[in-house]
Amino acid sequence: MIKRCERCSDETHFLEKCTFCGKYICRNCLHTAKNLEKIKRVVICKGCFGDAKKIKEYDSMK
Ligand SMILES: [Zn+2]
Ligand SMILES: [Zn+2]
Repeated sequence: MIKRCERCSDETHFLEKCTFCGKYICRNCLHTAKNLEKIKRVVICKGCFGDAKKIKEYDSMK
């Protein structure tokens, strides 16, 4: 099934939800992501990466 990225509108098979804005984004729009203790995955999109507050929050997640 083809899905559409909520940030750039590209069609893709792979979407991940940005932890900060809640948008479903494609690989291109994903800035970085990390797994927290196997249970939680934190994703930040390129849109949220421009927001210093969100970056700080992302960095503080361990
Ligand atoms: Zn995208
Ligand atoms: Zn985002």
